[in-house]
Amino acid sequence: MFSISMISLAIVNTIFPPGNTEYHEFVEAEKPGISLVWYWEDNFDREEKMKVESWLKSVTSAVESTLGTYPFDLHFHIYDRGDSREPVPWANTIRHAGQGVNFHIDPTHSLESFLEDWTAPHEISHLSLPFLGTENAWFAEGYASFLQYQVMQNMGIYSAEEVKTRYRDKLAMARPYFDGDQDMVSIARSLRKGHRYSQMYWGSASFFIQLDQKLQDGYGIRLTELISDYQDCCRLKDQSIEDVIASWDNLLGGDACNELMEIFQTAPASTIWFQ
Ligand SMILES: [Zn+2]
Repeated sequence: MFSISMISLAIVNTIFPPGNTEYHEFVEAEKPGISLVWYWEDNFDREEKMKVESWLKSVTSAVESTLGTYPFDLHFHIYDRGDSREPVPWANTIRHAGQGVNFHIDPTHSLESFLEDWTAPHEISHLSLPFLGTENAWFAEGYASFLQYQVMQNMGIYSAEEVKTRYRDKLAMARPYFDGDQDMVSIARSLRKGHRYSQMYWGSASFFIQLDQKLQDGYGIRLTELISDYQDCCRLKDQSIEDVIASWDNLLGGDACNELMEIFQTAPASTIWFQ
């Protein structure tokens, strides 16, 4: 990790040449692990930059203790979206030329409201898997939706009980859309085409809620622990959804992941919905 941190520092020095001590202090104070590279794409004052850094450093630190140390630096591009009711009205992951996130923010919101927003935990969680193709968006979005609350629990925003309640409420919202003879994956893909994103996200998240339960019951581990091990062995080598499932099962020494995937791809959705 030492060499990766040094590379990051070199990159940061290039982007923010010596004289801008703010960035030096931030990078050097960071514990070994995920290194952050900042790109201020619009004008932000010093106070706004400190707020954004504090917010994203807290989220990244919680991601790291929940999902492990990512084997690459994270590139954060920060844009000023102007007046918005939400602190982060838009964000998307960057999957080429370095892994990272574009955050479009309204910097006038408080640090507290940034920390209570699910967007950064969601987007940064996505990066613990490779890009799996748009046809597998159901898997990627269900994954990040499930993990965003695991990360927020780690941040102290929600208790374990509150996270369970959130999952229950979100699944109850999505359930009527999955009450049919078609399989879960086909229904999720149709919902995405019909722009029913929140139903698609949370119907798909039920895959990970079920998998987490299966892992606890059958193997005595949480899905987040499996993902943490996955960062070390396989994150940089896997390229497809099949690779990911095979790596997870290989780490487990079982076939729980592949088994659940087959059920989601073939069984009528109404018969497998999480109870
Ligand atoms: Zn997402």
